[in-house]
Amino acid sequence: MIYLDNAATTRMYEEAVRVYNEYAVNRFFNPSASYQAGLDIAKQLNEGRYLLLKKLGAKKGTIIFTGGATESNNLAIRGSMRNGKYEYVFSVGEHPSVYNVAKELKNQGYIVHFVDLRHDGQVDYQKLEKVLNEKTRLISVMNISNETGAINDLAKIDTLRKKNAPNALFHVDGVQAFCKVNVNVDKYNIDFYTISAHKFHGPKGVGALYVRNPNSLKNIVFGGGQESGFRSGTENVAGIMAMLDAVKQIDIDKNFEYVCSLSKKMTDILGSDENVDILQTESPYILSVGFKGVNGETLMRALQDKGVIVGIGSACSAKKAGNRVLESLGYDKERVKSHIRISFSEDLQLQDIEKAGKTILQTYREIWEKVK
Ligand code: PMP
Repeated sequence: MIYLDNAATTRMYEEAVRVYNEYAVNRFFNPSASYQAGLDIAKQLNEGRYLLLKKLGAKKGTIIFTGGATESNNLAIRGSMRNGKYEYVFSVGEHPSVYNVAKELKNQGYIVHFVDLRHDGQVDYQKLEKVLNEKTRLISVMNISNETGAINDLAKIDTLRKKNAPNALFHVDGVQAFCKVNVNVDKYNIDFYTISAHKFHGPKGVGALYVRNPNSLKNIVFGGGQESGFRSGTENVAGIMAMLDAVKQIDIDKNFEYVCSLSKKMTDILGSDENVDILQTESPYILSVGFKGVNGETLMRALQDKGVIVGIGSACSAKKAGNRVLESLGYDKERVKSHIRISFSEDLQLQDIEKAGKTILQTYREIWEKVK
């Protein structure tokens, strides 16, 4: 099998699995316990917070361990809301774990602005500027799109915020960026940054939220007060330790360069057919590709029978009709339907890409012959 849906999830590193087992079986103590074994675990979690802060380029702030990015995103948004006539700003390209929270806020009567995307997949900065004002409480724009690989210009958003919305907090969903590109939350004055372990070879159901100033956040779950009161519930210690191990193993620059070569190989093969339409974005990890006249889902299924696994957009929204993100780039419904998502990992070989690329092209042509 050649697995090309790494934006949906990745294979865990074997060493991270070993760490997971160690903490699940031998060092299983509760980090909130007051005896030494528990205190030792709490200390290791705290060391992990420093590791993540360093990796995020944060000189100050704190890390809250969570049950994954969906939870981190909900906490950042709902936990930073305040009573009063505040406004909340989101891009329409956000993952459902942000977008659906925003829609819910709107349904509840809050003032919510959705900002369109440009044709290249980035948020439309001009439209963003227009909705920002002194009442803006939160701006939530993702770092890298899980659908297209477009990288938003966080420096620009920070500048717009300083100029137009000085009271706004800045939340960034960094799920498709962390451990893939270098991140620096201090440089762009990011207040909240979301990460998820299973996107970088850690376990599922564990993640974190970076918080610059704890006073800007309130807990949304009530309980025993773990994670400085922001996320009650006993920490998933084995999952967190395995996530930290994965972080330690990753060489961002080396992987980036290698994945660029994988992505280029795939682009060269698929781009040789004029009916194939590749959305060019900055992240080499994600390619959104349209196949004229063919349904992406049909292609995905045919490829699966040949041992090539690709995605049809975000796994979380794959069961829903249409694709909000591609539609917002101005694509018509037919074109949106023709897209598949190919996403890479540094554990792939160049020969795999060559083989998969040729299989994708050949399978497309076979289907096209039947339907045209
Ligand atoms: N945000 C983005 C950009 C994602 O790609 C995903 C996973 N598809 C999530 C959030 C949700 O992550 P998790 O599975 O950890 O809840």
